[in-house]
Amino acid sequence: MAVMITDTCINCGACIDECPVEAIVDEDENPTGEEIYYVYADKCVECVGYHDTPACAEACPTEGCIQWDDATDGMPASENRKSKGTPVVE
Ligand code: SF4
Ligand code: SF4
Repeated sequence: MAVMITDTCINCGACIDECPVEAIVDEDENPTGEEIYYVYADKCVECVGYHDTPACAEACPTEGCIQWDDATDGMPASENRKSKGTPVVE
């Protein structure tokens, strides 16, 4: 379970300090080489146990930029999720 940052990210940095588990890295640290922020799927806990909704998505000013589909109780999946799948670091 993890959220993913899509290519609509504008590198504003609003999300990175909100993450309680330091799962987010900036464009310079993005292991895919894309010039956008990135969430490590193996670190992200979708804020379960920390917040009622993903804190990064709450902070993000770009609608639909941070997406997830693995809903837990009381935490609906984000709308309009693209079918790109969750990036996995090899
Ligand atoms: S959903 Fe929560 S744990 Fe996952 S990247 Fe966003 S802030 Fe971090
Ligand atoms: S808050 Fe949203 S737009 Fe800003 S860096 Fe994070 S994912 Fe990108």
